Amino acid sequence: MKKTFNFSPNFSKKNRPKSFIKFVIIHYTGMQSEIASVNRLKNKKSKVSCHYLISRKGKVIQMVPENKIAWHAGKSKWRSYKNLNRNSIGIELVNKGHVYGYESFSKAQIQSLVVLCKELIKKYNISASNFLGHSDIAPLRKLDPGEKFPWKKLSKYKIGVWYKNKDYKVKDLKKEELRNLFFKNTHIIGYRYFQILKRSNQDSKVIRVFQQRYLPKKVNGKIDKKTLEISAFLANKLA
Ligand SMILES: [Zn+2]
Repeated sequence: MKKTFNFSPNFSKKNRPKSFIKFVIIHYTGMQSEIASVNRLKNKKSKVSCHYLISRKGKVIQMVPENKIAWHAGKSKWRSYKNLNRNSIGIELVNKGHVYGYESFSKAQIQSLVVLCKELIKKYNISASNFLGHSDIAPLRKLDPGEKFPWKKLSKYKIGVWYKNKDYKVKDLKKEELRNLFFKNTHIIGYRYFQILKRSNQDSKVIRVFQQRYLPKKVNGKIDKKTLEISAFLANKLA
């Protein structure tokens, strides 16, 4: 696909082998404008970067070569992986984000993302379940790409996983059982930063990012039957 280049100095200098690349992490820039985002991603002091930035008009800008480790994920975990920069390609979508005015992602932006991801799937054999949002791998401190990111639509292109609606059979669960079951499922799916059987006041953040992705119209940080049902479906599929 057509790309332009605007390189950032913020990456680890050593090359990585192709076999390291297993994940694609999706972000939004969360800044006032595209120019401000590019400047930040190029500023040595910011110590952040990405492999690709996609503008609102769908322009794809490469900022770091794929065989270098870009600095986009920060402290993060997913399944047995820690600090996912080493094993991922980072893609930033220009969007003001939850602080400056969260916008729908543009059609052109998503079209370019699909073409780019298809290329990456071909090149690195990345599985659908290894397309993740920044919030999936750092749920206590990140919200991007957020509830307006079209995961359901993208799952049709094997970019991220989705679920099928079906009735959840277990009835009359007590609140505590419901919560523990949900966290058992999310742990199987790959989420970290919580304990399976011991609840904490940070847990609602994990529930919230899960709902942003899979139940975007109902983000309240509370586990109901539907939220549990989706987690059970995905845990079953990915176990
Ligand atoms: Zn991010």
